[in-house]
Amino acid sequence: MQRLAKLIYPAQCLTCDEMIEVTRGLCPTCWSNTPFIVDHPCEACGRPLIGDAQEGDLCDDCCAHPRAWDRGRAAMLYAGNGRSIVLRFKHGDRTDLAYSAGQWLANAAAPLITPDTVVAPVPLHWVRILRRRYNQAALLAARVAKLHDRPYIPDLLKRSSATRTLDGMTAEQRRDTVAGAIRITVKRADNIKGKRVLLIDDVMTTGATLTQCAEVCLAAGAKGVDVAVLARVDRDT
Ligand SMILES: [Zn+2]
Ligand SMILES: [Zn+2]
Repeated sequence: MQRLAKLIYPAQCLTCDEMIEVTRGLCPTCWSNTPFIVDHPCEACGRPLIGDAQEGDLCDDCCAHPRAWDRGRAAMLYAGNGRSIVLRFKHGDRTDLAYSAGQWLANAAAPLITPDTVVAPVPLHWVRILRRRYNQAALLAARVAKLHDRPYIPDLLKRSSATRTLDGMTAEQRRDTVAGAIRITVKRADNIKGKRVLLIDDVMTTGATLTQCAEVCLAAGAKGVDVAVLARVDRDT
């Protein structure tokens, strides 16, 4: 099986393109330079906690402003090599990254998986999909669903207006910009009634988009919502 996997996915590092022995998509140097989140992250937003953290602890931010969802995990920080992996994935037409990145994310999200979990991506407006040719959140979500053998609902949510890019906005501006832009796909609402929805996105900054998605799922009858992202921006905004 291992040999077969290597035939299909050449042993090339995803970030430095070095043709050497790689494990989980990266060469040893890039692996150690990527800020993967280990140990006990914040239970709600997945950022690493500093000091003597216990499982289930929350960061100051999530204590002060409870999240619309229950639990959250991130595979890595949006910094250094973590940031360059996300940018390659997002803008570099590197859909091949979804294979390994989806695996990292599936590992990070493992504690969130329940027998009732269904997996759905944060939606991208179709104009953006045309421009970018793919929704990176959907590629990750499909991989997480497959690895955990959970139902995958790619079109659970949709964006009813093309929101401007949120880069450079304050938390308040982000919230206002995404408010009302996310809707449930009516014919999919029955698929989440009484279920836990695991929302997948590539990056969490303030969590404004995930908040909107979680609220929409809960309003449509989901029993609970958890979130998992490839990279977490670790700063207060
Ligand atoms: Zn490398
Ligand atoms: Zn937190």
